[in-house]
Amino acid sequence: MNSAEIRQKFLDFFASKQHQVVPSAPIVVKDDPTLMFINSGMAPFKDYFLGNKPAPSKRVADTQKCLRVSGKHNDLEEVGYDTYHHTMFEMLGNWSFGDYFKKEALEWSWELLTDVYKLPKDRLYVSVFQGDQAENLPMDQDAYNIWKTMISEDRILMGSKKDNFWEMGDTGPCGPCSEIHIDLRSEEERAKVDGKELVNNDHPQVVEIWNNVFMEFNRLADGSLVKLPAQHVDTGMGFERLCMAIQGKQSNYDTDVFQPLIQYVANEAGIKYGDDEKKDIAIRVISDHIRAISFTIADGQLPSNNKAGYVIRRILRRAVRYGFTFLDFKKPFLYKLTEVLAEQTAHVFPELKQQLGFVQRVIEEEENAFLRTLENGLKRLDALEESFKQHNNTIDGKTAFELYDTFGFPLDLTALIAREKGLKVDEEGFGKEMEQQKNRSRNASATEQSDWVILQPDVVNEFIGYDCDVTDAQIVRYRQVKAKNNSEYHIVLDKTPFYAESGGQVGDVGYLVADGERVEVLDTKKENDLILHITKNLPKNLEAGFSAEIDAERRNLIRKNHSATHLLHAALRTVLGDHVQQRGSLVNEKVLRFDFSHFAKVEEAELRQIEHIVNERVRQAIPLDERRNVPIDEAKEMGATALFGEKYGDFVRVITFGSDYSVELCGGTHVFNTGNIGYFKIISESSVAAGVRRIEAVTASAAEEYMQQQLNELNAVREVLNTQSNVSGAVQKMQEDLKVLQKQLEAFELKQLSSLKDSLAHKAQQLDGINLITERVELSSADYLKKLAFDMRQVVDNLVLVLAAEIDGKPQIAVMLSDNLVQDKNLNASQMVRELAKEIKGGGGGQPFYATAGGKDVAGLDVVPGKAQELVKSIIKG
Ligand code: ATP
Ligand code: MG
Repeated sequence: MNSAEIRQKFLDFFASKQHQVVPSAPIVVKDDPTLMFINSGMAPFKDYFLGNKPAPSKRVADTQKCLRVSGKHNDLEEVGYDTYHHTMFEMLGNWSFGDYFKKEALEWSWELLTDVYKLPKDRLYVSVFQGDQAENLPMDQDAYNIWKTMISEDRILMGSKKDNFWEMGDTGPCGPCSEIHIDLRSEEERAKVDGKELVNNDHPQVVEIWNNVFMEFNRLADGSLVKLPAQHVDTGMGFERLCMAIQGKQSNYDTDVFQPLIQYVANEAGIKYGDDEKKDIAIRVISDHIRAISFTIADGQLPSNNKAGYVIRRILRRAVRYGFTFLDFKKPFLYKLTEVLAEQTAHVFPELKQQLGFVQRVIEEEENAFLRTLENGLKRLDALEESFKQHNNTIDGKTAFELYDTFGFPLDLTALIAREKGLKVDEEGFGKEMEQQKNRSRNASATEQSDWVILQPDVVNEFIGYDCDVTDAQIVRYRQVKAKNNSEYHIVLDKTPFYAESGGQVGDVGYLVADGERVEVLDTKKENDLILHITKNLPKNLEAGFSAEIDAERRNLIRKNHSATHLLHAALRTVLGDHVQQRGSLVNEKVLRFDFSHFAKVEEAELRQIEHIVNERVRQAIPLDERRNVPIDEAKEMGATALFGEKYGDFVRVITFGSDYSVELCGGTHVFNTGNIGYFKIISESSVAAGVRRIEAVTASAAEEYMQQQLNELNAVREVLNTQSNVSGAVQKMQEDLKVLQKQLEAFELKQLSSLKDSLAHKAQQLDGINLITERVELSSADYLKKLAFDMRQVVDNLVLVLAAEIDGKPQIAVMLSDNLVQDKNLNASQMVRELAKEIKGGGGGQPFYATAGGKDVAGLDVVPGKAQELVKSIIKG
């Protein structure tokens, strides 16, 4: 069975048990401050478990893209060294949202593994939660009893909280679980050691393949457990491990999930996989990492310097370095692999193939950037290796930080290289250095949240802001959030006109009014599906009936900018082509910003054309066609611009301005007629990242203001020029005149310089075979001072020249000596100028034959010539 068939069998099996099969949610998480990437199949369904919203179907099955490189579940260090942990992997899952429970879940998992996939029963073990005193949880007797009917009791193992109580993160849904393990060792090996001994013991051939979690609890911020409103089943089976078991392989990397990538990398490196363990590890790491990198980028997260973006950059840099050091890849290579991966996964995860060009460009650019510093960083490490060995075998924090800051080495990469060299890294020291460099990767997430205080359980918060700006409302829950020197409240209402920041549109501001008290809402944000009104204070009477009022004027400006963004998006596709995809946006009351994939600068003429199309649509006064609660498939049929980032269960809102012009999935607020936008004006076009451009624009009164400013500027120029027509012609003429004048001035000054030279030459005093000239002169630039000194050297032999001049209001001194004097008379221009500079309260230096000084005291210039004479005399005598 190849991997595609194995995956399909799983989905078909649960479809036959009345499960709805749904596609994977995007691996990048939006709107959830507790999670950056999906780390398990259950994460996208969190809200259904918590009862925040009802599940659209009680039984669901899917394969979910997961990433485990940060937070509670982090397998990064294992990847490539072991054969069964990946950064990105697929988790096959079946789900019961308040429907079936332990019996069905366990029986079906057994049926699928042994009947459908025909895995040998005598190689399977199962585990059951043994209970935990500290948590006050009993043993899972139910699960034990169910297993007993299918598998002999000596194959049912008891597991501790660590292995048999599953939690997604520090808070959130959790519960006891029952794992299924498989022993893939040879008969010979099995005869020697009982497989039971190796379960959950990091043996590469005795691995967990499936975990059935029984979601019963919610873990609160204070660490306590509370019962969930209903009982659920959440199962997760590692797809790559399942393929290994069914295909009879010893390693996930030997399955057809990884082999195409592995062979491609080996081929590029000109070696055979399996010949050299070090190189094999590098090949495995690269084949693993490219999956994580490609899918996160395809799902909308670009590599960057902080948060989720930095996670991807770290993975990418690890992969680059493995290739560089072990496979001799000195040029970008990762980006080529994406093509193999895209072909291989197009039938399950089409998003990669659809954006292949873009993903490749982003990766190649990242590779190039890191390859520019990698080699020097590695050299630096090598150079210091001996010194590390003498210092406790430790790379000190300063060096680790230097590697990070100057050479772009993420800490985990430095730690990895250190391990290869038998060294440690002073991570604490690194942390201190990091701290000191304040404005880098500042972590704003150091906040402390209290648990929710629930005033009205079971009330769903409803957004009614598409239809009105004011409503009666009640508080259903609130909590306090403390940051360093700041505290605020999050208030959830039963219904609200406040739009929560999302899809690039900023949150509304406004007031909650009750009993004569007006509590200001500073911002509105979303956490999963909760709409959080952010306030400085709590209202006095929490149970009052409130009037919730948004700042409607501000919202109207936002509407115009948001609708204009849609018109812009469509115009970009018309003018530049269908490859244009939205990469990010910002819409507030002042400006709109739209980031999109495009590979070149947008030319001036193109910008004008785009602007023109948008303004045509504005003038056509196209009415808004808004449809809510459209199932995602239907929206796609309507021709909505394909947006990755939607997940199963999403009912979307479709915003149309002319069904043949702009159809978009969007939750934002819009004008009822494009005519309300008034006028659209692009104010800038720039690059934000490899293959991503940004346009900023303004609309309505802001556009009017912008144009007025430009016009005022022009009028001011007209006034200065005293001309009404052909302003640019007048300016051009002025510049030409200026050039002529400058030339004339230069010629005049050179002439003056030459006569100054002649008159100075006549002033030379004879002193012990020296021609001594010390003068205060008038010159307009330092260049002329220098030129004069060098010209004098040409015409006067045995020259000691000291010039003092005020240039641009500052005193300057130049000393010039003939070369023979430097050698024979012990004279040194540099020393002399330093001595003389004291008179003008300054300093300077230069070469033995020519030196200059500047200072602060212009008055001192007058005494410099006399002082210079004395100085020269004293040197000659001495
Ligand atoms: P392990 O102890 O092997 O790390 P786990 O207890 O972390 O596994 P779960 O969180 O229960 O695993 O995830 C469910 C299933 O997903 C596991 O049974 C396994 O098959 C698979 N899985 C977990 N982590 C990884 C990973 N990093 N790479 C590939 N598959 C994984
Ligand atoms: Mg694990």
